[in-house]
Amino acid sequence: MAVTEAREALPADGCDLQLAVDYRPPFASGSDSQRAFASGSDSRQAAGKQRQQNGCTLPKVNYQKELEAILAKHTRAGEVPTLLLHSCCGPCSSYVLEYLSDYFSITVLYYNPNIDPLEEYEKRVREQEALIRRLPARHPIQFLAGTYEPQQFYETVKGMEDQAEGKERCFACYALRLKEAARCAADHGMDYFTTTLSISPQKNAAKLNEIGLALEKEYPVRYLTSDFKKKNGYQRSVELSKEYGMYRQDYCGCIFSKRQREQEKASRATEKNGRETD
Ligand code: SF4
Repeated sequence: MAVTEAREALPADGCDLQLAVDYRPPFASGSDSQRAFASGSDSRQAAGKQRQQNGCTLPKVNYQKELEAILAKHTRAGEVPTLLLHSCCGPCSSYVLEYLSDYFSITVLYYNPNIDPLEEYEKRVREQEALIRRLPARHPIQFLAGTYEPQQFYETVKGMEDQAEGKERCFACYALRLKEAARCAADHGMDYFTTTLSISPQKNAAKLNEIGLALEKEYPVRYLTSDFKKKNGYQRSVELSKEYGMYRQDYCGCIFSKRQREQEKASRATEKNGRETD
């Protein structure tokens, strides 16, 4: 685990990245995820029951409202809890940091073994660190860099390489990164952990929260429920990226999403050429 100057307040031990990745598709019979939901709040259970009666498999929960309730509770108590925030990239973290640094003492964890190639990974890390240095924050923000270990990612998504973005491969990828966030947060005695991932319109907030809540049962740290695309979060992240002149990548991160994006671009170009020659 490489730690930059800004990270020195954190203990140097812990967070070695030897994960036992045991993601199972959520809602398989008797899964941890299912048990996590079963032991959730009354309102979450009631909402879930209603949705299931209506033929929906995933309980519809307003994660933004849940987050606001947690923020209000700590504000009333005059508390500033610690939060380990898993970040996928600088642009996605911009709004989340702007929003949550008013309430939490945040440590950003950059653990993204999914990113390909190495140059892209390094570029995203640099953008993340630069943003943290420049972003005004009421409570200080620290940075913790994970090791780049793509083999962990490829083992995790084995057999799912050909899936389109947004399916089971992505859920396994969320779980890999969230699990490391939960483990690091627990190792460092943090109050909460969460991820920036839900800010993207391409990411499934219900799945992310489901995985996070399941991990909360496995590690002694609370998961901060969230859906950061709410309250125009995604839009604000685009504005902040422009304001700070940040590099915004045009693919999610893995080699498979890169290929998918290139194919989409090629199809659009062929279509356009076809229209122009008609
Ligand atoms: S598309 Fe994104 S979320 Fe899905 S597997 Fe690739 S990097 Fe992970």
